[in-house]
Amino acid sequence: MQNSKIIQRDLSVLWHPCTQMKDHETLPLIPIRRGEGVWLEDFDGKRYIDAISSWWVNLFGHANPRINAAVRDQLETLEHVILAGFSHEPVIQLSERLINITPPDLTHCFYADNGSAGIEVALKMSFHYWRNQGLPQKTKFVTLQDSYHGETLGTLAVGDVALYKETYAPLLMQSLVAPSPAGCYADPGETYEDYARRQFESMAALLEKQGDEIAAVIVEPLVQCAGGMRMYHPIYLTLLRQACDQYNVHLIADEMAVGFGRTGTMFACEQANITPDFLCLSKGLTGGYLPMAVVLTSNKIYQAFYDDYTTLKAFLHSHSYTGNPLACRAALATLDIFEQDNVIENNRKLAHVMDEATRPLQDHPHIGEVRQQGMILAMEMVKDKKKRQGYPWQERRGLQVYQYALKKGALLRPLGNVIYLMPPYVITPEQIRQLVEIAQAGIDTI
Ligand SMILES: *Cc1c(COP(=O)(O)O)cnc(C)c1O
Repeated sequence: MQNSKIIQRDLSVLWHPCTQMKDHETLPLIPIRRGEGVWLEDFDGKRYIDAISSWWVNLFGHANPRINAAVRDQLETLEHVILAGFSHEPVIQLSERLINITPPDLTHCFYADNGSAGIEVALKMSFHYWRNQGLPQKTKFVTLQDSYHGETLGTLAVGDVALYKETYAPLLMQSLVAPSPAGCYADPGETYEDYARRQFESMAALLEKQGDEIAAVIVEPLVQCAGGMRMYHPIYLTLLRQACDQYNVHLIADEMAVGFGRTGTMFACEQANITPDFLCLSKGLTGGYLPMAVVLTSNKIYQAFYDDYTTLKAFLHSHSYTGNPLACRAALATLDIFEQDNVIENNRKLAHVMDEATRPLQDHPHIGEVRQQGMILAMEMVKDKKKRQGYPWQERRGLQVYQYALKKGALLRPLGNVIYLMPPYVITPEQIRQLVEIAQAGIDTI
């Protein structure tokens, strides 16, 4: 057994992300030897379907031949170069193509080297814009209940997932939290749209009252992923765009997780027909190959920083690996696949398979809600379906489903009591049905 040897070596030198390391006294750590398509293979030769795209980053499978070829080719010419004062073809091409495919009026790309760093860029730029415009009192950020924007101190401050945030609360700037628009909280009989409209009233009131001190509202368009795959109707974004314009507040769209076809359209904002002031992309940007984020913004914002050096209006923010050429080539190869393979259309069929396969689960006594937005499908386990009462978190029911699924050859990684599928787009209908069967059996056995 190869696994156990590797595990021993790992646990003596590594500290893993988002993990209580003591859990590994009983939970198997899984060392992966290779990946191919939706499959991951461990050192004992056991294979797992990657149902969560390795933390939502992978779009076209592991070791994708086309992305491999692009990265390999780039490796022979230029692995990296400083992006201050210097430039290179892949980063220019990528920026041109992103500006072409994102909502209108986004004209400039600023790069960072991971998602959280990208959000920090958007927050700083928004605040700094108002300062450059002579409005330094606009310092506050509005966020939504249950939102998640990353783990650095700035991004935790604009997040609202207690599990990650509470411990560090004394270190964080204060943000304003507006109530959730997510339809899972709607009254019985109330539609997602009605609920989003009703909840928007609080947001509108907040912006009206405190707009003068608010720099920006930050949202995850349509799906609040880390907060439990909570979904809301696009009308909320349409109304929010109008209100932000009315009260002179920026709108930051964090599409780190929902961008690149996840919600059924290339970008989630398209479904509300809006252009945010800042569009933040990462994760699927490089097809799941290399860490990179980009913040797209408008010419209006770009121009507010454009002046003589001595005015000190410049955005003097940087990361060492800004615009890394290897990551850019992986991203360009990813965009090529979108263009060549009719991905958005094909995803519509896969999403339909996900919907059909999970329909019987809607009546399951321990599933409170099955919700779906494009290539994201979530099932919320409940103790009492009528009362919509969840299981106590201490029971770690999701973890039990996780362990069950591993035995059956699937990597599901529930968020608390929410089991979800967010697979690579190269998954087959048969594999989707297999995952649903495993999830259901997992729920039934615990
Ligand atoms: C993952 C995620 C981030 C943070 O990205 P990292 O690369 O993990 O720092 C930010 N916002 C959203 C919505 C995310 O899902």
